[in-house]
Order: sequence, then structure tokens, then C-alpha cells
Amino acid sequence: MKIHEYQGKQILKSYNIPIQDGVIVENKDNIESAIDQVSQEYGCNQFIVKAQIHAGGRGKGGGVKFCPNKDAAIEAANNILGMNLITPQTGESGQKVRKIYITKAFDIAHEYYVAITLDRSKNQDVIMASTEGGMDIEKVAEETPDKIIKVWVDPIKGLEEDQVTKLSSGLGFEEDLFDQASDVFRKLYSCYIEKDTTLLEINPLVKTEDNNIVALDSKFNFDGNAMFRHSNINEMEDPFEIDETELEAGKFNLNYIKLDGNVGCMVNGAGLAMATMDIIKLSGGDPANFLDVGGAASVDTVKNGFKIILKDPNVKAILINIFGGIVRCDRVAKGVVQAVEELNLDVPVVVRLEGTNAIEAKDILNNSEVEIIPATTMQDAADKVVNAALN
Ligand code: ADP
Ligand code: MG
Repeated sequence: MKIHEYQGKQILKSYNIPIQDGVIVENKDNIESAIDQVSQEYGCNQFIVKAQIHAGGRGKGGGVKFCPNKDAAIEAANNILGMNLITPQTGESGQKVRKIYITKAFDIAHEYYVAITLDRSKNQDVIMASTEGGMDIEKVAEETPDKIIKVWVDPIKGLEEDQVTKLSSGLGFEEDLFDQASDVFRKLYSCYIEKDTTLLEINPLVKTEDNNIVALDSKFNFDGNAMFRHSNINEMEDPFEIDETELEAGKFNLNYIKLDGNVGCMVNGAGLAMATMDIIKLSGGDPANFLDVGGAASVDTVKNGFKIILKDPNVKAILINIFGGIVRCDRVAKGVVQAVEELNLDVPVVVRLEGTNAIEAKDILNNSEVEIIPATTMQDAADKVVNAALN
């Protein structure tokens, strides 16, 4: 789960990590008063107007603008609010900007990069820091990875003082700045752990001209499975940032992720769903989605599954691959027949049912009036659905 920069900064603030706050605007009528408010509260007459969308790289896409005075800020705010912002991370379709954040513009002496995430290969959290912060950190990671300092935190011992020192002195901080930066690292790591974060990134963390350290950006990804114990964070989720179909699937208790191919998949169990996507790929096709309908595939789940899959206009054929364990295949077969009849499907449907009562299920499918392409093995099912999607 992700949140916006301004929301992340409120979390950082609750840990007493220095941030640059500002005012959020959602309606163009409030732009001028928001700028006045920022000017008064933070004593400034130069501003930064920032689009609030989850994707990064906003600066590169024109979603972060430096404004040397109030008039420029009014103009930038009017341009950015409501724009369709395309960044290197949004994909070609971009993301509509529904909120902007107006903040004080800082005199920046230097931009640093700081991030914490889980390094799965080492089973430890890794804290990364670099003097090469700002908008090109991806390039730094690729071309000069030695410019990124890394420390791995033992989960039992926690972050140790010599590691904090390695980070702060590695960034070249001395004296007062060393203490400020060390304090930020300790607090960031506590925040990362306590909030069940999977990625916490501050890019840039800056040194200001008057020698202070301030977080100018924030990016948080959280472990969705832990959000039940952080209801205040869970409430921050912006429904406009979630794919509409994924949101609807959630209401039906279906696990759906949209992909770019044209073969719709309806499968029970995440493992089988992954294997199904793999075999479609290996057979020359492209899955349109991941869809795990869960253990109990009833008529309703199958029907809802079809509805969700068919919201995607790219879908040219559907593969139903269900393993009958507790759920009996004959029940699923009845559900499939009924759903195909009621929904008047006009895309070909390949069905593979294996497991408990698979033979009875085959009879039901063979004796039904609806057009279903029965399949036996995974390979057979994949070949048939890839072929059906071509025609
Ligand atoms: P993104 O990472 O999505 O591009 P950032 O918030 O990191 O967005 O902003 C991009 C750049 O804009 C920063 O690297 C920094 O140079 C500049 N910037 C952002 N906020 C401020 C600010 N308050 N004052 C001065 N410059 C800023
Ligand atoms: Mg940034």
C-alpha cells in the first residue's frame, strides 16, 4: 500500500524528523489563499508547487515547479492541478493530478538520497544513503553503485551506533550536521520498523544553506497485510490511485491484478494462478490478469470473476483453471455453465477442472448448451486458450 508525499511527511513529523510541510489544495478556487498561507506560516516568498500522485519522477514530468514569486506560483498551481501527469513511473497513460502541495522553496546546499527496504537475499533490512541525491538516483545506482553506502541491520540487534556513524560520516557530515543526520537515521529506522513499512525513501534529504537537514520528499510503501494494526495509515489510502477494477474485485473478495495481455485467467489459489500465467507465456500467449478466486469457487464467485475479467477490453479468451480440493469440480462446472448462460459471454472460454469429482464435471460441461472448450492438462488448456485468443 502506498500514500502521498504530504501524508508520508506527517508520519515523519510524528517522529520529529525535520520536514518541509506546506498546504494541500484540491480546488483551484483555493490556490491564492493557500499560497498566502504558506507565505505567512513559513515566512517565504518563493514556492514549490508539487503534484501529489503516487508515482515518482514527478519533477521530470513537470509535476514539481519552482516559483520565484506569488504570481508564478498561482500560474504553476493552475497548470499542475488537474493535469494528466506522465512521469517515467506512471506509464504512458499518466495519472490525473487531483491534489497539489504548495511549500516553501529552500535554498539547497546539497541533495542526499536515503532509503530503507528489505534485502531479501540477506534476510535483513538495508539502509542506503548517497551524496548523489535528487532526480537521477536510478542512474547513480546503475552507473556508479559504489556511490551508495549500504548497511544491513541485524533484526535481533537493531540499528547499531557504528552503523549510524558509517552512514553519517559516509555522507561527509561533521560536528552539528553529523549529530543531526545521525538522529534522522535512528528515527527513520524506528519509523520504518514500527509502521510496517516495506520501503521508506527520502529523496532528497537536503542540507540547507543555513546548515540544517530537512526531508523535502517522502515515499512510503507499507505491508498491506499489516495495515489492520495501523488504521490511521490505512485510511490515508487514496482510492483514485488504485486501479478501478482491482478496487471492485476487492469488494467481491477476489484477488485481481490487471496485466497487459489478452488471455483472461480465472484460477483458484495463488500458486496455481502463477503457474497458469507462466504456462500461458511459455505457450506464446500473454495473460491479461492474475485472478485468484480463492478456495470456495461458487456460482457467484465465478460470475463475479467473469465480470471483473471482462471489464478489460483487451481480453480475447478466458481460461478457467480450477483444482477441486474442498470445492468439488461438479459444483464449479455448474457455476461456469450458469454464469456463461446468464452473462451471454461472447469470448471463448477454455475450462480445465481437475481434482475432486472432475469426471462428473466433464459430463456437465459436455452436456451443456453453452459453448465451452474443455481441456485436460495444463499444457492442453494453455495451447487452446492461446489459440482461441488469436482468432
Ligand atoms: P520527485 O522525486 O517526484 O521528482 P521531489 O519532491 O523529489 O519529487 O522534487 C524534485 C526536486 O525538486 C528535488 O530533487 C529538489 O531539487 C526540488 N525540490 C523539491 N522540493 C523542494 C523545496 N521545498 N525547495 C526547493 N527545492 C525543492
Ligand atoms: Mg524525490
